[in-house]
Amino acid sequence: MLARTSDRGSTNQLSWHSTGNEQVLEALESSQDGLSNAEAASRLQTFGPNVLKRAKGDGPLRILLRQINDPLIYVLLASVALAIIMGKVVDGLVVLGVVVLNTLIGFVQEYRAGKAIEALMDMVPQTTTVLRDGQKTTLPAADLVPGDVVELASGDRVPADMRLLLARSLKADEAALTGESVPVEKHTEPLAEETQLADRSNTVYGGTLVTYGTGTAVVVATANDTELGRISSMLHETTQVETPLTRQLAVVGKYLTIAIVIVAAVLFAVGMLRNYPVVDATLAAITLAVGAIPEGLPAIVTIALAIGVRRMASRRAVIRRLPAVETLGSTTVICSDKTGTLTKNEMTVKELWTAEGTYHVSGAGYAPEGDLLRANGAKLGESPPDVRELLLAGALCSDASLGLSDDGWRITGDPTEGALLTAAQKLGVGLEEARQERLDSIPFESERQYMATLHEAPGETSERVVYLKGAPEVVLRRCAFLLDGSPVDTEHVLGQVEEMAARGMRVLALAEKRLGGTIQDLAEEDVEEGLRLIGLQGMIDPPRPEAVEAVAACRRAGITVKMITGDHAGTATAIGRELGLTTSGSTLTGADIAALSDEELRGAVSRTSVFARVAPEHKLRLVRSLQAQNEVVAMTGDGVNDAPALKQADIGVAMGITGTDVSKEAADIVLTDDNFASIAAAVEEGRRVYDNLKKALAFVLPTNIGLAVILTAAVAFFPIEGGAPLLPMLPTQILWINLVAAVALALPLAFEAMEPDIMRRAPREPDASVLSRFVIVRTVYVALLMAAGALGLFLYEFAVETARGTTFATALAEAQTMAVTTVILFQIFYLLNCRSLRESVLKIGLWSNPWIYAGIGALLLLQLGFIYLPFMNALFGTAPLGPVALLQALAVAVLVLPIISAEKWLRGKRRTARVQKKVARG
Ligand code: ATP
Repeated sequence: MLARTSDRGSTNQLSWHSTGNEQVLEALESSQDGLSNAEAASRLQTFGPNVLKRAKGDGPLRILLRQINDPLIYVLLASVALAIIMGKVVDGLVVLGVVVLNTLIGFVQEYRAGKAIEALMDMVPQTTTVLRDGQKTTLPAADLVPGDVVELASGDRVPADMRLLLARSLKADEAALTGESVPVEKHTEPLAEETQLADRSNTVYGGTLVTYGTGTAVVVATANDTELGRISSMLHETTQVETPLTRQLAVVGKYLTIAIVIVAAVLFAVGMLRNYPVVDATLAAITLAVGAIPEGLPAIVTIALAIGVRRMASRRAVIRRLPAVETLGSTTVICSDKTGTLTKNEMTVKELWTAEGTYHVSGAGYAPEGDLLRANGAKLGESPPDVRELLLAGALCSDASLGLSDDGWRITGDPTEGALLTAAQKLGVGLEEARQERLDSIPFESERQYMATLHEAPGETSERVVYLKGAPEVVLRRCAFLLDGSPVDTEHVLGQVEEMAARGMRVLALAEKRLGGTIQDLAEEDVEEGLRLIGLQGMIDPPRPEAVEAVAACRRAGITVKMITGDHAGTATAIGRELGLTTSGSTLTGADIAALSDEELRGAVSRTSVFARVAPEHKLRLVRSLQAQNEVVAMTGDGVNDAPALKQADIGVAMGITGTDVSKEAADIVLTDDNFASIAAAVEEGRRVYDNLKKALAFVLPTNIGLAVILTAAVAFFPIEGGAPLLPMLPTQILWINLVAAVALALPLAFEAMEPDIMRRAPREPDASVLSRFVIVRTVYVALLMAAGALGLFLYEFAVETARGTTFATALAEAQTMAVTTVILFQIFYLLNCRSLRESVLKIGLWSNPWIYAGIGALLLLQLGFIYLPFMNALFGTAPLGPVALLQALAVAVLVLPIISAEKWLRGKRRTARVQKKVARG
């Protein structure tokens, strides 16, 4: 049995590149047919799963340090030191305690968010085609063991280190390993022993990408025994939770800190001018710093992003790069593939054309049940020879297979080919017949638009036959004659193609060519000319109903949807109409795009919604052209050559099911169901994340500014009683509001439900600041309101208590407790308002976010403790309040409700007026 020999190597360390194929297989105790399932299972035990041990993102210590390495925290720590030096030890310790608590909250959140994002990496598992017991099967790449025989095709990520047994025009991009960015050609010949890694052209390495051709190879090393596995630094995957928004907020935080330090210094100076004792002036300055810094904000941002990522994943859009969560919210154009994304990718052949006539095929899906009908609807008992020939060619020139599974007939492989196989079976051309010995093939590539296979010709001849199938214009170019030897009327056939395409059908042409002699290999030159046209097969692929819905939703959301397809212009236009993408019917083809200058293209791109016969390089130009017009572009892609366009787009979207590994790696999002509707869902979630962050800001900032206003007003204008200034709040009390209340209340906003109009408004400007005019105006007036309420009640309570003859200390404590309670209640009512920035809370559903009430409930309990529990009284310098005082605080706080409602109503009216003006202007 094959065994591990050392830590370094997987197996008995032959130098694989200098050994012949047969010896390699022998040494690995394998064969051309691969391993048996039993042997593979036992090797999996020995060698372990083929999974690279990932170098983790930042470790816990790093994350912790990042929390502390924050200018806001420095200011707070300086305050702690100052307070302790000045003898206010309890205050200092409480501030310290809160800083520690806050750091821990930030740490836990970021750590968890990092884990969540790490888990996302595993949500798009890699699969691979392996021969087991001589059968082709698709397995997770993690199940590979040394000795497995694997089939590779362009677009695959090589799953392990492998020695090639067969290579057809195979090229690999090995930049991940060697840094060489030009793809390397591969073959199977043994090389000299001393050949360097980068030149071992008969070996492919795990983690590199197949960019062209196909090949078969035997696995020689898996997991950390691979070359890539040994360079662990390469795999350092960052799980940094950083996005444009968090960076923007960090900048805001920096300026805010500077401003706070300046204001605190001014406050200290004012205190000194008013002859406060130094201790008290300093204390006031510290209190200000503590109150004005929004300590809870970073945690809220991280959580909102993490929630967004999770929710998108549950709606089938897996985020690969975190900034995409935000960019999605400002997407203005979505460029989508057609086949499989906008359509179902359930192809069914409906129409056949040969020189003898047109036929219809009944029955849908992959079940081989249906009939052949003449154009006039008459049923044909048996397929005539021309039809049999056409169906046979379709079934032979195909890599797909059709089989019965638990849930009905299923195809493995390309659905287009599945349709051809189904049609052949339906109409009595058995697949056994169709499986006549295939000698060689040229696989289908989007760029070539055809596929060809070489077979032994049926009968007693020693001839070979080539079947060609592909896009009609590509096939017809190579055909001079029909099957019966008469010349082809190309114009007539293309007219037929147009007519079928205009009915939304994908049309494939089939042709054949006899080759004498005993050729074994098929080259592109062999199918350049001299073929005989057999006929056409037309298949339908209905639009996904949910895609039609999603296209309409995008339009309402101010997002333009453009369809970009490799298919025929006629087919594309017809499907575009069915999807509601285009009414004008103007369609641009790849050839048109190539002929236009950059400037002309810009004009044409904005007018057109359907692009047909588009090659990957055109996609790149389209993205650039749209971006030059300030559009934020999401672009889908599935092929190897789509990678540049996916990278260029603001949001690259790859297909989880049908996409190549290369495209998935280049993308920002992977759709696990390949469905256009999932892109629209992700956009919706992206908008929600941004909205919720804005809500959190609009909620948190007024509290901070309000606290600063309260203090500044008090220090500047309040009377000095008994030598000490009358401070409406102590530093510890301010921290209580700022951390306990703000966090308990703001965090639930990250879970807030969607605004009802979320997909009915225009996309957000991509570079608009989160601190929009709205947030600033809101912050200022709510802060003033809050300050006025708290200060007023503070003075009132202090006056009442003093008049009643209460001692100064008790009167102050009660008045301060009153001020804090007012602010807390004010925050609770304001929070209810912040649940929607534009609408009345009733509109988004009073109970749509239960977390809000959990937050409020928790805070109310804590606040009761703050007022009534003796130990809290001692810690925070508070005093119990009577019921009247509580009611007074409640009455003042509730005022915020009608005021904000009036603001929303006014803004709503102005918005409607703006829209009406726009409509009137046309
Ligand atoms: P989209 O970009 O919307 O997904 P697509 O991927 O279906 O479109 P391609 O797969 O590039 O487009 O196909 C381009 C053309 O090549 C098709 O219109 C068809 O004529 C032809 N074609 C598609 N599949 C095959 C195949 N398996 N064999 C031969 N020709 C094919």
